[in-house]
Amino acid sequence: MNTCGDCGVKEGEFHLVGCDMERCFKCKGQKICCDCGYDIEREPFFKYNFPCRRCGKFSDGKMVSDKEWNFICGGTYNKKDVLCNSCMEFIKKKREELKDGN
Ligand SMILES: [Zn+2]
Ligand SMILES: [Zn+2]
Ligand SMILES: [Zn+2]
Repeated sequence: MNTCGDCGVKEGEFHLVGCDMERCFKCKGQKICCDCGYDIEREPFFKYNFPCRRCGKFSDGKMVSDKEWNFICGGTYNKKDVLCNSCMEFIKKKREELKDGN
């Protein structure tokens, strides 16, 4: 079952108010950042894949904990960016190498 990574609703359901994965139906911006409000037509959640920020390939991108994300991506990527599993592993390995090298 595909659920929204942020608010947890199922596909075909509306996001919960304040979910930062929701796109605005009217202005196509991020719903929590636009001024259109929630009284207008809304865009339900359907799963879509993001291109990886590093290699540009589309992938499912698994969810990782904030701690893991900060360790791997902190400083270079934003929390809302998506990395494919192989890029994730690559960066993680490099960081661990650096850490061990000290
Ligand atoms: Zn949502
Ligand atoms: Zn809007
Ligand atoms: Zn990648």
